[in-house]
Amino acid sequence: MLNVVIFGAPGSGKGTQSKLIVPKYRLYHISTGDILRREMENQTELGTVVKEYINKGLLIPDDLMIKVLSNVLESRSETMGYIFDGFPRTIAQSEALDNILRAKNTMVTAVINIFVKEEELVERMIKRGKDLGRTDDNLETIQNRLNVYHEYDDSIISYYKKRGKLFTIKGNNPIEDVFEQIVEILDRLSSKEYKV
Ligand code: AMP
Repeated sequence: MLNVVIFGAPGSGKGTQSKLIVPKYRLYHISTGDILRREMENQTELGTVVKEYINKGLLIPDDLMIKVLSNVLESRSETMGYIFDGFPRTIAQSEALDNILRAKNTMVTAVINIFVKEEELVERMIKRGKDLGRTDDNLETIQNRLNVYHEYDDSIISYYKKRGKLFTIKGNNPIEDVFEQIVEILDRLSSKEYKV
């Protein structure tokens, strides 16, 4: 299996790149943000609980988020691998992901860390708010989301660096160029995997 974590600040292009990676490597895309937004739209019980957090730019509590993720993994076990977009966001989530994948006799293959400067992130998210009408893409919530991201980014980056799984790329280039960098990394890793 090829299990990829796509990591980066909100607005760094994780979703955009995930959508390009998915068909090429036949992975199943798990965007925790998309899952939660769907729950909100459908006004489910979970949707009502998470709405307050999302609209304030706060993280959903780990135990709830981990439960949501393991349910999705359970329901989608037939795949060549997964791309995790928006998860993990805390060390507790990173550890939980390792445990869940270990129980399936697999593991995180690579963490692609997309780096984009703060000014560009804010600009992109404001544009996305206008284009897609995301309720959390307004200046106040954007600032909160960036602060929350910076609370945990260093520790998550070092968690995966220590395990030799971290690949950092620049995300300020055109979409196709960023994708090309990701493909280079994943091709290298998957050819290694198949040789074993
Ligand atoms: P995203 O679309 O990934 O930027 O996520 C949008 C919002 O959903 C975040 O600001 C959080 O409120 C919530 N969320 C998404 N993924 C997670 C996660 N792994 N842990 C906690 N909250 C999350």
